[in-house]
Amino acid sequence: MRRFVTLVQRRPINFYFKRTLMTDEKKSSDKSGVPLPVVGRRNILITSALPYVNATPHLGNLIGCVLSADVYSRFARLRGYNVLYVCGTDEYGTATETKAVLEGVTPQEICDKYHKIHNDIYEWFDIRFDIFGRTSTPQQTEITQDIYQRLDANGCIDEQEMKGLFCEQCQTPLADRFVEGECPTCHYDQARGDQCDACGSLLDSVQLINPRCKTCSSPPVERITNHLFLRLTHLTDQLSKWITESSEKGCWSTNSKATTQSWLKMGLQDRCITRDLKWGTPVPRKGYEDKVFYVWFDAPIGYLSITACLTDEWKQWWKSDNVELYQFMGKDNVPFHTVIFPASLIGADDGYTLLHHLNTTEYLLYEGGKFSKTNGVGVFGDDAQNTGIPPSVWRYYLLTNRPESSDSDFQWSDLAVKNNSELLNNLGNLVHRTITFVQNQFGGKIPRITLRKSDEEFLASITKLTEQYIEELEAVKIKAGIRTAMTISKVTNQYLQDGEPWKRLKSDSESAGTTIAVCANIVRLLATLLHPYMPSVSSTIASQLNVSDDFSLTSAELFSSEFVEGHEIGTPQVLFTKIADESVEEFHLAFLGKKRDAKTGPEFPLDLIVGTVFEVKDHPTADHLWVVQVTTGGRTLQIVTSLRTCYDEEQFLNKTVIVLNNIKKSKFQGVASQGMVLCAKDESGFSVVTSTQSNGTRVVPEGAVVKVKKNFKYKKAWKDLNLRTNDESQGICGGVLLLANGEPIFLDKPKPNSEVV
Ligand SMILES: [Zn+2]
Ligand SMILES: [Zn+2]
Repeated sequence: MRRFVTLVQRRPINFYFKRTLMTDEKKSSDKSGVPLPVVGRRNILITSALPYVNATPHLGNLIGCVLSADVYSRFARLRGYNVLYVCGTDEYGTATETKAVLEGVTPQEICDKYHKIHNDIYEWFDIRFDIFGRTSTPQQTEITQDIYQRLDANGCIDEQEMKGLFCEQCQTPLADRFVEGECPTCHYDQARGDQCDACGSLLDSVQLINPRCKTCSSPPVERITNHLFLRLTHLTDQLSKWITESSEKGCWSTNSKATTQSWLKMGLQDRCITRDLKWGTPVPRKGYEDKVFYVWFDAPIGYLSITACLTDEWKQWWKSDNVELYQFMGKDNVPFHTVIFPASLIGADDGYTLLHHLNTTEYLLYEGGKFSKTNGVGVFGDDAQNTGIPPSVWRYYLLTNRPESSDSDFQWSDLAVKNNSELLNNLGNLVHRTITFVQNQFGGKIPRITLRKSDEEFLASITKLTEQYIEELEAVKIKAGIRTAMTISKVTNQYLQDGEPWKRLKSDSESAGTTIAVCANIVRLLATLLHPYMPSVSSTIASQLNVSDDFSLTSAELFSSEFVEGHEIGTPQVLFTKIADESVEEFHLAFLGKKRDAKTGPEFPLDLIVGTVFEVKDHPTADHLWVVQVTTGGRTLQIVTSLRTCYDEEQFLNKTVIVLNNIKKSKFQGVASQGMVLCAKDESGFSVVTSTQSNGTRVVPEGAVVKVKKNFKYKKAWKDLNLRTNDESQGICGGVLLLANGEPIFLDKPKPNSEVV
């Protein structure tokens, strides 16, 4: 009997053996088990750009650094390389310091709070770091000061006089965000000392027109103080040589090579590395007691200091010529990692590990625009957790949509399509069909494999695709790798479909068994290949197959990945669930924020109009009903309502209400009713929805476009719209505020979080 394993071995196998591990390979780790570089192995040090602590990461931040680096580090571990993945929060800088002043807490407290937010979000997304540290540590001070002192000793530091602003009232120098004034470029009145938010110009605080102290508003005076400069001019030759060599050797992307070259072409300028701030790494030099290092100088040193927080042996990783450094970041971070940080390390000249492979992403847009926490636009890490969509689906969507050579765009409809047709119908279907078939038809045991020629050809194509996947991920082509893995799933589905084992089960159970056992083998292979992308899905597949989820993709392991005949599998489970069209709409509305683009918003089928009740009469026959007349500006509507159970006639007369205008006309005990008055209900009764706006004003969910449906069927369709009140008893639809002329509508008697009827 020929087995899958023998078949694969007959194919060209040089590729796998290139990186075959020696069985007596040395493992090395420090006393607490942290891996250390080993001679003779590939030692891969992976960093993700350090996210700025003071901001909740959004989907674009995730794909830009931590998630991409996570995929590669998981892949490198699958290959048996010696890997260390390091990241953490970048905690120093004026944004933290000013925020702390505003909130009346210490910068450290701000950092503690946000560090935890970051940590929780990355954990939820299944990002597995060796350490997720922070830069506000004694190790950071020690290593930064050491690098500075080496630079100084090597003649790479210069002292220059600079003009700065000083507030005599507060007795403090005013750097960056501690001073505001008029922008010299666009004349916006609230430009900050480091940047103008209106036109985006980078500024020096002395350029501001009519500057004022952010704390006490008094005008500052100019003072001349000394600052330290990194002499990039002095380092240009060494740096250019290193860039030319490394960009080729480490296969930097075309875009990042171009950015770096343009910096070199402009001619490098000496750069100031000190700042008149308190929250930062202290400068070990006489006369600099009130200054700290500028964040762009010491933030990348965070990679080293965070590693030092993990192990005392950090120098084995960071001062080595036997380590390949892979760095992941968004495109805006490139010059700091290809020019400034390497220049500091080259100048310090202490055998530092320098960048090998640079992996960058362009931007991820949200529905064609920017993510904005302040405006509530887009999905942030904490929001994603509340959608009920599992982390693996988010990962899959972001990774298949990774902005590698150009910006890409997040769309809810696209997320639903990828979930429903790729994950659910392709992968989920293959896994579920295979496992239930083995379970139901073969008593849960993998049947014997007797390969026919067509099976051999099919397996050869799978081997080829697997090789392609490995090549792609070795080159850190993350999007290509997931595409290839999903192709394997797709062609295997087709193989199963064509093989029709369910038809041959009785007539030729051996060939039916072979087909399903081949599928089971490939499902197992897929669990491995998908592990870098969707680790928890891979683990679930492994448990359904009753195999270990300690995956590996080294040559030896790949060949032994076949099942023994008779292997007992586990219980089938559903891997993915459908995302319905209605949810897509709901999510889209929920994350629109303050964005108001009436032409492209979702459609809203109700004709809701502000009106005033001008007549209230008893219903001729029904004691619990009123017949009221409502004016909506130009029109008068007669409405039959049961609200008299909760309101006096006096209270109800002249009340501003919201009427539903496009409901099917009906009769209540013989009296015609042309609409409905919106109200909310809970156990204590009804409360009317009202507005501050004038009669005739239309009510629309924020960002939506009204497309009135004639004769709206209340009984059938109302519930689906999900009209409710929020915590503040304001009307919402699918989580989005209902607005009349831009203003929320609200209940006249508070009933938070209740249903609107
Ligand atoms: Zn400006
Ligand atoms: Zn002041």
